[in-house]
Amino acid sequence: MSQEVSSARIKLKFLGTGGSFGVPMLGCGCKVCLSTDQRDKRLRTSVVVNVGGRSLLIDASPDLRAQGLAHRVERVDAVLFTHEHADHVGGIDDLRAFNIRQRGKLTCYGDARTLAVIRRRFDYIFSSIPPLGSRPRLDLCVVDGPFELYGQEVVPLEVFHGEQTITGYRIGGLGYITDASRLPSETVQAVRGVKVLALNALRHEPHPLHLSLEQAVDTAQLIGAERTYLIHLGHELEHEATSRLLPQGIELAYDGLTVEV
Ligand SMILES: [Zn+2]
Ligand SMILES: [Zn+2]
Repeated sequence: MSQEVSSARIKLKFLGTGGSFGVPMLGCGCKVCLSTDQRDKRLRTSVVVNVGGRSLLIDASPDLRAQGLAHRVERVDAVLFTHEHADHVGGIDDLRAFNIRQRGKLTCYGDARTLAVIRRRFDYIFSSIPPLGSRPRLDLCVVDGPFELYGQEVVPLEVFHGEQTITGYRIGGLGYITDASRLPSETVQAVRGVKVLALNALRHEPHPLHLSLEQAVDTAQLIGAERTYLIHLGHELEHEATSRLLPQGIELAYDGLTVEV
């Protein structure tokens, strides 16, 4: 299959695998927050996808600078946004380092609502008044259907995040879905057959905005990727203990983990 040939060039690095608070959570003294296992240290959820030598960032977490330093992100060629929540866009200002290093604008993709909120919330970036200092230089590009990027087809996926819908992405043989509480059946169909799936799982107890661990495992099995990596993890999920509960082919991601698709 031609898809398998092209997807061999995709590499995924998890820059952060934590929920909106990160792990440890500020001020918390629970067992997971005090864990000395490095895999229990989770910055906010974001990945960098290497596609044909280009570097595609999914979401700009508030930890973007620390993540870029820790995992040696040397360039970002484009950004895909899943939605506008603070834990997914809070690092936008740090994108200007890549503008300066690469001497060019960055294209940011997302659904219409996400990009409209970004434009409003980060109004200084889009102001017509020339700044005295630096600011990110971003081209916002609304995603309303599949498009091609660096030789791969990028398919937006509708994802329920509580009452609102946000965007997941299929990039060749990779499925990336964060902050889902539920998936429409069309989305399950659209990601069925991916080799690698990243999917969110917050904690054991149900949550109105996020899949629980058990719901994420059920959803992952419905999709049936060869390998599923769970992301956006809360401080209820200790890496070692939780990993023992997971079926074959499904594992917890951790910050710095690199996966070939
Ligand atoms: Zn989130
Ligand atoms: Zn969210």
